[in-house]
Amino acid sequence: MKPGITRRELEVTDRNEIIRILDTCKIVHVAMVDDGMPYLVPLNYGYTLEDDQLVLYMHGGLQGRKIDVMRKNPNVFFEMNCEVEPFDGKVACQYGTSYSSIMGSGTVEILDDVEAKKEGLSLFMKSQTGRDFEFTDKMVSAVNVMKITVDAFTAKHRPDPMAREKK
Ligand SMILES: Cc1cc2nc3c(=O)[nH]c(=O)nc-3n(C[C@H](O)[C@H](O)[C@H](O)COP(=O)(O)OP(=O)(O)OC[C@H]3O[C@@H](n4cnc5c(N)ncnc54)[C@H](O)[C@@H]3O)c2cc1C
Repeated sequence: MKPGITRRELEVTDRNEIIRILDTCKIVHVAMVDDGMPYLVPLNYGYTLEDDQLVLYMHGGLQGRKIDVMRKNPNVFFEMNCEVEPFDGKVACQYGTSYSSIMGSGTVEILDDVEAKKEGLSLFMKSQTGRDFEFTDKMVSAVNVMKITVDAFTAKHRPDPMAREKK
């Protein structure tokens, strides 16, 4: 089920806006559950958005806590944010931060198949750099590639309330 956003007026539903946020953020915070306790890592990511299906690709070392936790429990929650700009006001409660963000839940897989890893790394590099790269089997064997199949996500944009006056 799609989670609801409390401040509905800030929700982003336009596909092109969602793609702009996905292209801009570059870093995703992936939250996991490690034996009942929360664990979170920031990671760079690539993505595909086909119809409404969002898939994220990350890469990292062959060992470490996140890989151990993901293997034990593949349920994850993620958050990415960008276009973060503080704004001020006359009184304390008028201060704030404008931002764009996406959050959602999904299931993570550590990819084993070499061709699937190459595809994930290509998508990762395309999102990060805008360029196409090719990968050898040796390059692929040095990293883990993580794939999050997202089951629900929401996007939000909080504009600077004074932006129009500043122009
Ligand atoms: C902006 C940004 C982008 C990053 N991009 C990537 C990426 O694309 N791929 C990637 O693999 N890693 C990336 N990292 C590093 C990532 O956040 C983790 O540090 C790394 O993936 C190792 O995770 P692990 O669970 O295997 O760490 P382990 O070394 O196994 O963790 C052991 C302990 O070290 C501590 N620790 C782990 N990571 C951090 C950290 N970042 N800061 C402080 N303490 C920490 C925690 O207490 C953790 O319990 C990025 C970090 C930042 C800040």
